[in-house]
Order: sequence, then structure tokens, then C-alpha cells
Amino acid sequence: MRTLMPATVALAPPVLEIAALSASYGGGAQPLQAVRNVSFSIAPGEAYGLIGESGSGKTTIAYAVMRHVRDAQVRAERIALQGRDVLRMNAKELTTIRGRQVAMIYQDPMGALNPVLRIGEQVAEVLRRHRGLSRTAARARTIALLEQVHLPDPAATARRYPHQLSGGQQQRVVIAMAIACEPELLIMDEPTTALDVTTEAVILDLIRELRRSIGAAVLFISHNLAVVANVCDRVGVLYAGQLVEEGTVQQVLRTPRHPYTLGLLASIPRADGGLTRLRAIPGGLPDLRDIPTGCIFRARCDDAFAACGVVPQLVDVTPGHARRCHLGDEAARPIETYSTPRSVPRVEDEAAGDQPRLAIEGLTRWFRPDGAIPFLARVAPVRAVTDVT
Ligand code: SF4
Repeated sequence: MRTLMPATVALAPPVLEIAALSASYGGGAQPLQAVRNVSFSIAPGEAYGLIGESGSGKTTIAYAVMRHVRDAQVRAERIALQGRDVLRMNAKELTTIRGRQVAMIYQDPMGALNPVLRIGEQVAEVLRRHRGLSRTAARARTIALLEQVHLPDPAATARRYPHQLSGGQQQRVVIAMAIACEPELLIMDEPTTALDVTTEAVILDLIRELRRSIGAAVLFISHNLAVVANVCDRVGVLYAGQLVEEGTVQQVLRTPRHPYTLGLLASIPRADGGLTRLRAIPGGLPDLRDIPTGCIFRARCDDAFAACGVVPQLVDVTPGHARRCHLGDEAARPIETYSTPRSVPRVEDEAAGDQPRLAIEGLTRWFRPDGAIPFLARVAPVRAVTDVT
């Protein structure tokens, strides 16, 4: 038996409830079965992470919630948003809930923004359409939203076009548009993947802060386990369209009980794990047009044994922590033992004497803002780097 939600968060009715969702692409005798029989739910204010390698079905699930996947390809007992079944909504109802009740943030912010409209117009448009604000009220609220996502000089930012902002600033604008109507559910699909690590950290701080301030539930999709650990309360691990492990972040990422989760964790560097050689999971995803018999992970699993010829069910190993595997307690082993630890020489051991590998003295780099004419410019240069040694 598997519990859909731990007792601590099960008291409030879920914001999102997905029951037995399957989705496939292409017609014919062998459609590509991207998602198979996936069920999970998210409580109010809870952040649920969906992880797994590319092609595991994470984004298809998000699109199914938004009804962006063609209906004929989606089957589910239920996809309910605040108790209302999304699959039974007509086009008008869907237009109303998108943006107002559920908002989605994509990986590429530039793709979500209109390049020929100023930032302020785009945010105000959401407020006018979904909240019925007047032009003046929408403009004032837009400035407040840009301030809420910590954009510098919100009034000036509102007058800019998307290409005049950095990638991190563009993503903050997209987040401002997403929270404009204070939706009950925010779906974030790899929201920081296109950003550098510094900007990523700023956006993750912002997401945590917004969760507290607007109290929205979050479906957070990522292949980055560290980011999910940072943002989410619970996590579901998808493999080849099936949920193979689910639990709190602590349960799944600290004490994984499925060989695939162990493999994912063994393939990333750990801050507390010392220097060990990382191990990739051998092989690749199976052909989803021709699903293999037995456990879907069998061809890549070092632990496979005779019983794995039968499809395992998703069952609780401890309350709220479920996994889909026939192994017993032997699956509960430290990640280090899965990663074939092999000592890697430390960099300082290899260094020749005390010679630095790189030396920089007094490095300065300033540049003029776009469009400034060198000999006429009264615009202060951007001081990117000043006297770094
Ligand atoms: Fe590996 Fe068997 Fe468990 Fe599948 S059921 S993950 S093949 S041990």
C-alpha cells in the first residue's frame, strides 16, 4: 500500500491531485508511452519536485496538468485542481484557470516573453485580462510586482524590452507574470537550468521567499537534485514515464531505496562525500514504443534478479516513502557504496611545488552600455571588473 501524501500535509485537501495519468505521443500500433499510470498530489503551500533524466516524462506531466497535450493522448482517472477535474473543463474554463489558478514558468524566459512588447505592458496585460484591473491600476501593480521579484529600478525596467535584460532578470519578469494573479499552483519546469550558478542561487532564494509570501503550491521539475533538495518538501523520481520512488526530500535524497535513485545520486558530486570518482548509470532509457516486460529499470540495474521479470508495484517502505522495486532491505545502502568509490588524487597533491596554476594581477574590465557612442557618451561605463589580483 502506498500513501499519496504524508499525514503531516494530508489534512488540507490537495491543490493538485493526479490519479493514474498516462500520456502517449504519436498514433499507430505503437505510440510512444511517455507517462504511465502516474499518481501524486500536492498540498497547499507544498513544493513537490519531479526528478529524472531527460525523456523520463516530467514535462509531459506538467503539460497534461495545463491541458497543453492533445486530449486524445492523455488518459487519467483524474487531474484535479482544487477539486475540479481539469480533463472535464471546456476551453473557456481552461483559459480562465491558466494564469489565474495555475501558472507555468518555463526553462527559457526569452521564449516566454514577447520580444516586441515592453516588460511593463506584458505584466500589465496579465493583470488586465485575468484580474480586470484598469490601465492605471495594472501599471501600479506591475511596478509593485517587479519590485517584489527584486528587479532594480522597477519603473525603468518596466519601460525596457526583454532583450535589454539579463537572463536572470528575464526569468524574474516571467516569475512576476506568473505570480501576478496569485495562483494556487505554480508549475516550474527547469526554471534555473538556463542560468549561471550565481543567478540560479538568486532565483532559488526568490522562489523560496515567494512560496512563503503568496503560499502557492509548487510543482518543481528539474534534473538537478541539488536544486530540488533546496526548494522542495517532497520529491517523486520518474524513470521512463513511471514513478519509481517518492517521499520527503530527506527520505528520497538521504536514504534512497530504489537503485535508479541511488544511481542518480551516485552520479553527482557531493559536498560531504570527499573526492570519489563519479559513476554514470550505464545504458539509456528503454524504447518507450516497445515497453520491456518486467521492471522497467531491469536492463540498467546492477541488482536485478529473477523476480524482476515481474513488474513491481509502488509500495511504502516507511510511511510516506514509497518505491517500485522487488529488493528488500538490501536496497537501503549508503550512496557511497553504490558509486564504486575510487580515490582521486587531490589537486594540491599533483601540483608542482608552490607554483600557482593561474596568476592574475590588477585586472580591470569596464565597458560602455549598449548604444553609447564613445566620444559623446556621458553614460557611466559598466564596471564589470576593477583591479582584481
Ligand atoms: Fe532493479 Fe529488480 Fe528493483 Fe527493478 S525490481 S530496480 S530490476 S532490483
